[in-house]
Amino acid sequence: MPERFDLVLVGGGLANGLIAHRLAVLRPDIGVLVLEAEAAPGGNHTWSFHAGDLSEAEAAWLAPFVVHRWPAYDVRFPRRLRRLGTGYASVTSERFAEVLQAGRPGLVRCGMRVAELRPDGVTLSDGTQIAAAAVIDGRGPRPSARLSIGYQKFLGRELRLSAAHGLSAPVVMDATVAQDDGYRFVYTLPFDERRLLVEDTYYADGPGLDGADLALRIAAYVAERGWAAAEVLREEEGILPIALGGDIEGFWADRAGVAASGLSAALFHPTTGYSLPDAVRLADLVAGLPDLSAPALFAATRDHSIRLWRERRFFRLLNRMLFLAGASERRYEILQHFHRLPEDLIARFYAARLSLGDKARILAGKPPVPVGRALRALAFPRSLSPEDAA
Ligand SMILES: Cc1cc2nc3c(=O)[nH]c(=O)nc-3n(C[C@H](O)[C@H](O)[C@H](O)COP(=O)(O)OP(=O)(O)OC[C@H]3O[C@@H](n4cnc5c(N)ncnc54)[C@H](O)[C@@H]3O)c2cc1C
Repeated sequence: MPERFDLVLVGGGLANGLIAHRLAVLRPDIGVLVLEAEAAPGGNHTWSFHAGDLSEAEAAWLAPFVVHRWPAYDVRFPRRLRRLGTGYASVTSERFAEVLQAGRPGLVRCGMRVAELRPDGVTLSDGTQIAAAAVIDGRGPRPSARLSIGYQKFLGRELRLSAAHGLSAPVVMDATVAQDDGYRFVYTLPFDERRLLVEDTYYADGPGLDGADLALRIAAYVAERGWAAAEVLREEEGILPIALGGDIEGFWADRAGVAASGLSAALFHPTTGYSLPDAVRLADLVAGLPDLSAPALFAATRDHSIRLWRERRFFRLLNRMLFLAGASERRYEILQHFHRLPEDLIARFYAARLSLGDKARILAGKPPVPVGRALRALAFPRSLSPEDAA
């Protein structure tokens, strides 16, 4: 007889980890098992979010996972330098794994690669079967022919400098750097007075990432800022989807009745690729479901994802302007233009909670891309992207 659980979470990453944590806190009677292919849950990330992305209640339960907080952040463009007084915070994979597992022996099994998922069970790569009342697929990003995406890709290096860097806030976008391979910016998080995470980031058409080249570019940026790296403490890299359009109903039809979370459920901010706020919300949604059977969980995760995808149509339209309308070395102008807007509107943009008035203000003014190309970028053929067709 295979082992049996109420809920098997495939992938011990951000979204499934938060679901497991929330269920363990709110409904300890539910038998949950997390299966993670790697040696530890949470991978190798620094997950950040803007303070305005979460409600007070959400921020309160996430607090034990948060390692760094700042009261403000900066953006830099060739013609705009600005400090925004919205808080910014980061969760590290290390802390995530600690909080998730603390006092919960057996919740996460590592080194367990799942080869096959079904709504009511899984098969591991060694052939072991595990049965469940329901399964959630949280294996992270995977290609889907149903979604049309651009890429946000980056290499980050955490550095210990030989002297203080002098930064008082994160620099979430420094686009004063040479533009290349799409919209390029450097992202810097100051963890203490000598320790920094510096990420060289590209909003690009293709997923190719040359780590060695990006490492050289980080070194050049660090030198230009007058900093000297004494040690590289760690590295992280990402190739994240940026949504341009797609057939979200078809995306879910392909899932054969298996519930999903995180990037596997297309739950991410279409423009920034951030998925932490969506993962927090989904964890609350799942923990609050009266019925955790496979059909109920599938319907709940599917309906939630489809509703958000539809609500976020405007962001995909902006993305198409960013990716398809302008010459790639001038894409930064769209972001520079956007950052003229009031602070509270920018916070709502990052939280993906724009009002109609906000949307009108974002589109107002002379667009920094050629109008003809912008118009062509707006509409997708209905066959490819029912939600985004003109
Ligand atoms: C380096 C990096 C930095 C990022 N920074 C931010 C940020 O600052 N803010 C933000 O909001 N978002 C950020 N993101 C984007 C996004 O939030 C993350 O990718 C996030 O981790 C996605 O969550 P997830 O749960 O969908 O997948 P993941 O966290 O990637 O989790 C998937 C897990 O499934 C496991 N797995 C895969 N296949 C199997 C299998 N067959 N069997 C068992 N386990 C399996 C993987 O090992 C992994 O642990 C970042 C992404 C990366 C890569």
